[in-house]
Amino acid sequence: METFSQQVKDEINRQELSRHHHCLKAELAAIIHMAGSLHLAGRERVSLSVTTESAGIARRIVKLFKMTYQLDGEIQVEEVGKLGKIRRYTIFIPDQSSLKMLLLELGIFSGNNLLEKDIKLELVKERCCQTAFLRGAFLAGGSITDPQKKTYHLEMVAHNEKFVNGMLYLLNLLGIKAKYGQRKDKYLIYLKDSEAISKFLSLINANTGVIKLEEVKVIKGLRGDVNRLVNCETANLEKSLAAAWEQVAIIRELRSSPVWTGMSENLKITAELRLEHPEVSLKELGELHRPPLSKSAVNHRLRSIRNLGQAISDQDS
Ligand SMILES: [Zn+2]
Repeated sequence: METFSQQVKDEINRQELSRHHHCLKAELAAIIHMAGSLHLAGRERVSLSVTTESAGIARRIVKLFKMTYQLDGEIQVEEVGKLGKIRRYTIFIPDQSSLKMLLLELGIFSGNNLLEKDIKLELVKERCCQTAFLRGAFLAGGSITDPQKKTYHLEMVAHNEKFVNGMLYLLNLLGIKAKYGQRKDKYLIYLKDSEAISKFLSLINANTGVIKLEEVKVIKGLRGDVNRLVNCETANLEKSLAAAWEQVAIIRELRSSPVWTGMSENLKITAELRLEHPEVSLKELGELHRPPLSKSAVNHRLRSIRNLGQAISDQDS
């Protein structure tokens, strides 16, 4: 079955590519930063490959190369993983002058560095390009946990720390506070907060992803409400138990005092029943009387008993 991550990526992938060259370049730059490798042959020759595990994303990358720099990429498929169940798609761009131009313009290659580590600011000046960049980064190296799982989690895995800093800066510009960490030799940018994840998904146009996340949040919220209700009932129960034990203590005191003999038979019956059944509710206590008493009648008698108890403890002090 498709994971939530794949659903989100498919949704983005089904959408038309931007009509603006600046956005296309920003998206492609992010993809190359996340999933590209450069290969040098001799002093002058350079080629580029980009890998992904999705056929749809591979086709998208081929289109991006074509639309921005008229580069023709070729897709190679490999079967990887234990049972060869995972397919890896590699888009290969051989050495040519427009590839060199792409590498310079997209800030991938600055002459002496193999992969330029920071994000080229000219690429992400406009908001449309900033979100396009995030979209590319998520498609190439992102994943999101199904929101039905216990915790919310969205992450993007990158290969170097400076690029991660650039991403954090970009996310911050867009009002998203992200965290970062390290896993082996990889760097992670991650979001744990459902609000931030929702915002991220809507920025990259993953709207059904947002809807699903929000639905799950509502359901989780309802579950929280039910828990609160149960806790509230428990609290009431504890309160009534505490009241019952207080009544028992008063009745014991009354019984060993001269007041007891002067008390009406009715009050004595209710007092004795309470002593025998400290755990029952007022309603149940009423039903134990012969003939049965209403809850309010029991409450009334218990209040009288309490007042008598109060009177003797006042006398004592
Ligand atoms: Zn743009």
